[in-house]
Amino acid sequence: MIRSVEPTSLLDLSKDQLAALLAGWGEPRYRSGQLWEWLYRRLAAHPAQMTNLPLALRQRLAEETRVDPLETLYEQRSRDGLTVKWLFGLAGGVTVETVLMLYGGEDAPAEDETKAPPRKRRTVCISTQAGCAMGCVFCATGQSGLARNLTAGEIVAQVLAAARWLAREDLSGLERPDRSEERLTNVVVMGMGEPLANYDHTWQALRILTDGDGFNLGARHITVSTVGLAPGIRRMTEEPLQINLAVSLHAPNDALRSKLAPINSRYPIAEVMAAVRDYIGRTHRRVTFEYALMDGINDSPALARELAVLLRGLLCHVNLIPLNPVVESPYRPSPPERATAFLSILEAHGIPATMRLRRGIDIDAGCGQLRRRLTDGAAQPAQARRPALAGR
Ligand code: SAH
Ligand code: SF4
Repeated sequence: MIRSVEPTSLLDLSKDQLAALLAGWGEPRYRSGQLWEWLYRRLAAHPAQMTNLPLALRQRLAEETRVDPLETLYEQRSRDGLTVKWLFGLAGGVTVETVLMLYGGEDAPAEDETKAPPRKRRTVCISTQAGCAMGCVFCATGQSGLARNLTAGEIVAQVLAAARWLAREDLSGLERPDRSEERLTNVVVMGMGEPLANYDHTWQALRILTDGDGFNLGARHITVSTVGLAPGIRRMTEEPLQINLAVSLHAPNDALRSKLAPINSRYPIAEVMAAVRDYIGRTHRRVTFEYALMDGINDSPALARELAVLLRGLLCHVNLIPLNPVVESPYRPSPPERATAFLSILEAHGIPATMRLRRGIDIDAGCGQLRRRLTDGAAQPAQARRPALAGR
């Protein structure tokens, strides 16, 4: 039989929409709760696994809906075993990347240092767009332009894929004292794309993932990173969900920032900072500023001082990340001494800051890099491009 309509993508649906779908099929009300639990608590990838649903319903779900919109094109684990990266294929032939990072207490990311003592974390970094329209000059994703927005279900599915991987993988060779370590603990929306340019789908996904009857991820364990779309930051301020905000700053003045992140011409630093101040004032939440250190571009002591002045008195934390070099890009990471000097100046001015460890460098775990290597045909061993920088 030729199907005339696309199957309904279950992960695109809110709890109410799922209930409406099953009610429309004449199912009793409690069925949608059962299905929600299969999808988000028991991480079922196919209706056949949903054994407490009647066979006829499982069959109808299999025929008329789809659970997983992702096709795994590539999976790679770093040599130290602590980073896993996927390239997923989506409808329309586009691809996105997702990265899972397994942290021990000792290298927990900086944003947590101000909170509880470091603990073991399983953090997944997800994409919200295939490509990106923002064109930041140092970013592999930015170089290829925007293919399309992801749907809510495609965003949710990346988190579920990482959670399934954790549930089935034997991590006993690594540091892992108990079974609870198999649960995903954090989500960072820092993969491909600009989440605030795909606002509605991103928030639909985050609402699904934080639902207490389902995946039950704490909003405080989610961070959304933006290049600085001021209206989106303002919208985020109004959201009931207490999601963390990270802003990719990379430069303390408009002249330099507009060169690195062209969208700065539309939303200059003063406008972004006004939105961030408002966010902090209303939510009392600490904001993270990301700053990719590029050799000779944005890493001088003078710029560190300028950054310190810009951020003075703000409830914030600066994450310094030596640039992940992108093939065919002229930008290089700052040498360790320069990076450390930059960090020291911020600290001397009382700005909380950390140098972030880069993870999974041997598997191209930087934003957009795996996809670029695999789809450009520029395949060379990942090891060959491993930068000769100390400690990474
Ligand atoms: N579009 C959003 C989120 C995705 S990018 C944003 O820009 O914030 C996630 C982070 O990776 C951003 O801080 C971005 O500036 C950074 N990034 C992009 N390319 C990078 C590179 N080559 N090296 C280091 N960080 C990079
Ligand atoms: Fe887009 Fe973020 Fe890359 Fe800039 S850094 S091009 S906003 S994904």
